[in-house]
Amino acid sequence: MNLIDQFQRRISYLRLSVTDRCDLRCTYCMPERQTFLPRSEVLSLEELHRLALGFIARGVNRIRLTGGEPLVRRDMIELVRALGRKLGDGLDELTLTTNGMTLDRFADDLAAAGVRRINVSLDTLERERFSQLARRDGLPQVLEGIAAARAAGLAVKINTVALKGVNEDEIPTLMEWAHGQGMDLTLIEVMPLGEVEADRFDQYLPLTKVRAALEQRYTLTPSAHRTGGPARYAEVAETKGRIGFITPLTGNFCDGCNRVRVTATGQLHPCLGGHEMVDLRAALRSGDPDAQLSAGLDRAMAIKPERHSFAIDAHGQAPALARHMSATGG
Ligand code: SAM
Ligand code: SF4
Repeated sequence: MNLIDQFQRRISYLRLSVTDRCDLRCTYCMPERQTFLPRSEVLSLEELHRLALGFIARGVNRIRLTGGEPLVRRDMIELVRALGRKLGDGLDELTLTTNGMTLDRFADDLAAAGVRRINVSLDTLERERFSQLARRDGLPQVLEGIAAARAAGLAVKINTVALKGVNEDEIPTLMEWAHGQGMDLTLIEVMPLGEVEADRFDQYLPLTKVRAALEQRYTLTPSAHRTGGPARYAEVAETKGRIGFITPLTGNFCDGCNRVRVTATGQLHPCLGGHEMVDLRAALRSGDPDAQLSAGLDRAMAIKPERHSFAIDAHGQAPALARHMSATGG
């Protein structure tokens, strides 16, 4: 039976985090000294596979692997291969979101396993700025990774978090660079997830403002293009490319929500911006994992909230949610 929540939304999309670890330390995502989970708490390859099959059995036909950085997990490619075998047999699409740091090594294997498109997160094209933002000197590697992915035939979409006073001035450059190579660019508002050193209010840049600035220089026409996610797109006449906007704060997008997220420890979060949780690891480690897993998915449908409750205010220092994006699976 398909997964339908209490607001009659059909859930067909799973974002599955395979690790909370990462080879970068983006300032808006995690602190420099992040405490990572002990490996014993993280789902094994077999558990991740079983879990994904349980979702597919309930009508989920798109899976995005994420993290942390999914490609730092050693057996990641084995999982991609195993899930790739479900393509055309319940699964319509298998994708991943990556920081691109090791894509040059994995691009061919991803393509061979049936991955057709990936999202690469990139917030700047300036090496020094990248080093400050990600706290690692990784820009050349990421650019090589993107080139390798494209050479392997993968469609690449660039995701950029818009950060006040950090990459605000570079958004037109990033857009022209991406469009110049035939890649879409999607901008994301920073979300108040987890404690980081910086103050969220300092980082927060409303995309309404970014869009208005772009419209001073470019002709943006709203587009009907959808990728099944919360991004709303516009065609840019001058660059002949597409720009997406993900606006959890300035524009609520919950009505059409079709997704749930599972952390690397098997916690199902029906909403990225809510506290609801179903423990699927307990189900997977029970005596009857498949039945317990399916029951867990029904529970999740009963508690998925109507909408998220993010807000950023100038005085609230505490994050809206204690968990980091890297833990929930961005
Ligand atoms: N490491 C991979 C990457 O960076 O693409 C996958 C995981 S990362 C958590 C997924 C996405 O979440 C990235 O595009 C990242 O920029 C974004 N992200 C992380 N923390 C965020 C936050 N607090 N607000 C908005 N986006 C965030
Ligand atoms: Fe790592 Fe992605 Fe978070 Fe950056 S955004 S620290 S690459 S998980």
